[in-house]
Amino acid sequence: MSAKKYDVAIIGAGPAGMTAAIYSARAGKSVLVIEKKSPGGQIVNTLEVDNYPATPGISGVKYAMTLQKQAQDFDAVFQFDEIKSIDEPKKEGDYFVIHGKNDEYEALSIILSTGLENRKIGLENEDKLVGHGISFCAACDGAFFKGKDVAVYGGGNTALEDASYLATICKSVTIIHRRDRFRGEQALVDALKKYDNVNYIMESTIVELKGDKLIESVVVKDKNTGETKEVKINGLFLAIGQIPSGADFANLVKVDERGYYEVDESCASKLVAGVFVAGDGRSKKIRQLTTAVADGSVAGSSAAAYIDRLNGREYV
Ligand SMILES: Cc1cc2nc3c(=O)[nH]c(=O)nc-3n(C[C@H](O)[C@H](O)[C@H](O)COP(=O)(O)OP(=O)(O)OC[C@H]3O[C@@H](n4cnc5c(N)ncnc54)[C@H](O)[C@@H]3O)c2cc1C
Repeated sequence: MSAKKYDVAIIGAGPAGMTAAIYSARAGKSVLVIEKKSPGGQIVNTLEVDNYPATPGISGVKYAMTLQKQAQDFDAVFQFDEIKSIDEPKKEGDYFVIHGKNDEYEALSIILSTGLENRKIGLENEDKLVGHGISFCAACDGAFFKGKDVAVYGGGNTALEDASYLATICKSVTIIHRRDRFRGEQALVDALKKYDNVNYIMESTIVELKGDKLIESVVVKDKNTGETKEVKINGLFLAIGQIPSGADFANLVKVDERGYYEVDESCASKLVAGVFVAGDGRSKKIRQLTTAVADGSVAGSSAAAYIDRLNGREYV
C-alpha cells in the first residue's frame, strides 16, 4: 500500500490530465498523476503542432515535456502505473482506493483523463510509421501533405470528412474502405463526390504497409477477388475508429452508448461525488488539445473546490 495519501489523483498524463494537475496543485492541493505509458498522451505521436495557440510548430514531444515540467514545478507527483479499477469510498470525504498494476494509491478525489486510443489496423510496421506518414488526424496533420498523394482508410463520417478536407490541399486522395458503401452520412458522401482528385477503392482492406523511415505505399486486397495491388502514397490517414482508453470506471461515471464519460459543466460525475473527467474521454464534439486543456483546467479547479468543501472552506 502506498504510504502517502493525496487530495487529488489524476489517471492519465495526457494534456488534459497534466493541465488538471497544474490547476489542482496551484490551488494548494497534493496531486498524484498516474500514467501507464510516458506522459504526453496522443500528442506525442505528431511531429508538429500547428494549431495550438501561441506555440506554432512545437513538436508533440516538446509540448508534452514542457507541460509535464510545468506540473512538476507546482509539485505534482508523477507515477508510472496502469490503473485497473477504483473503489469509491463508503461515505463522502473518505479516500478512494486506486488499484494499479504495480501499487495501490489513495485520494480524496479522482480526475479521469484517460483519453482515447486510435484503433489501428494491426499490421507490422504500423507503430513505427505513426507520425512518419501515418496519421490519425487530418485536421492536425493534413497541411504537412500539401500537394502530395495520400490515402484515407475508413468509411464513416470521420473518413469522409478527412478525405474532403485533404482533397482541398493534397494532389490526390485515395479512400480505401472494406465495404461496398460508406457508413457515413449521405451528405458527406455527396460532398466528397465533388472533388475530381479523389479515387475510391471499395470492398478492400489494407494488408501491408511499406516504407522504412516514412510510409511509401500500401498493399490493398480486394475482398471479393482476393487480388492485391500496391498504391504509392506519401501519407495515410487512419479513420477506422477510436476507442475510449483505460480501464472500466463505469462504477464512478455514467458512460454513454459509445463508451464516453458523461459529466456536467464542471466536469463532475453525476454518479459519485469527488470524481471528475477531463479530455478526449469525455462525451463531446471536438477532441483537440485546446478542448483537452480546457477540460483539464475545469476539472482541476473543480477537484480543488471539492477538497476545499470537504475541509469546510470555499474555493475562490
Ligand atoms: C497523431 C495525432 C496528432 C494530433 N495532432 C493534434 C494537433 O496538431 N493539434 C491538436 O489540437 N490536437 C491534435 N491531436 C489530438 C490531441 O492529441 C488530443 O485531443 C489530446 O491528446 C487529448 O488529450 P487527453 O489528455 O484528453 O487524452 P490523451 O492524449 O489520450 O491522454 C490520455 C493518457 O491517459 C493514459 N491512460 C489511459 N488509461 C490509463 C490507465 N488506466 N492508467 C494510467 N494511464 C492511463 C494514456 O496512456 C494517455 O497518456 C492529435 C492526435 C493524434 C493521435
